[in-house]
Amino acid sequence: MSIVIENMTKSFGGTSVLRGIDLTVDSGELVALLGPSGSGKTTLLKIIAGLEWPNAGGLVVNGSDWLGLAAQDRRIGFVFQHYALFPHMSVRDNIAFGLTVRPRVERPGKAVIAARVDELLQFLQIAHLADRFPGQLSGGQRQRVALGRALAIEPTVLLLDEPFGALDAAVRRDLRAWLRRVHEETGSTTIFVTHDQEEAFELADRVVVMGDGRIEQIGDADQIHDHPATPFVARFMGATI
Ligand code: ADP
Repeated sequence: MSIVIENMTKSFGGTSVLRGIDLTVDSGELVALLGPSGSGKTTLLKIIAGLEWPNAGGLVVNGSDWLGLAAQDRRIGFVFQHYALFPHMSVRDNIAFGLTVRPRVERPGKAVIAARVDELLQFLQIAHLADRFPGQLSGGQRQRVALGRALAIEPTVLLLDEPFGALDAAVRRDLRAWLRRVHEETGSTTIFVTHDQEEAFELADRVVVMGDGRIEQIGDADQIHDHPATPFVARFMGATI
């Protein structure tokens, strides 16, 4: 599913948070939104998810006007930084959640849901955790469950907001390799937000560098490292290498 964003703006109160974003993400691409805190990355992700509304601009997904669709019709898989798992539900029920709350006409039968959840548990290598509750899991395990919940609905677009931000370095590295594999196997169009350069460059096909509500540069690691397009990018790259 391709995503085309045109001249998108967003402000909160009097503060401009997105100042004219133009971005095309190709079907099956894995794109990172990289930038310092407050640059508007999460706001852009939330608009694509239908959790925020832009002030102006277009958003077209696979040829359809995405802003005209109700959020539940967009089939977005969204993974939050802090997992947002339901603490009173088992791993199995957390993953099944997105399927059980679909409108009755679209809802798969119980057996189909159970089979799909089993498949995901295997795929994410968490089958042995199926009957545990989130409080009994490590951070890395919880994030796998969160990804399972996002993937269960067979999302059109997979969005991840600082998915590994709360984890320690070794677990982050492990999950990065693993997200790459999930991406390759599902082929889903994926956008993830990070402020971590290493993570962005290691994972993404293309990196979108954002600063103060604008896209400063789009490119791969070599282009952005070796040919920063603006003084902002040069400073940002230099500051955190
Ligand atoms: P990033 O993800 O790059 O850290 P955000 O998109 O979260 O940036 O935030 C960009 C700016 O918008 C920040 O200054 C933030 O305080 C502000 N902002 C985000 N959400 C809201 C909101 N719901 N109300 C008011 N201001 C907001």
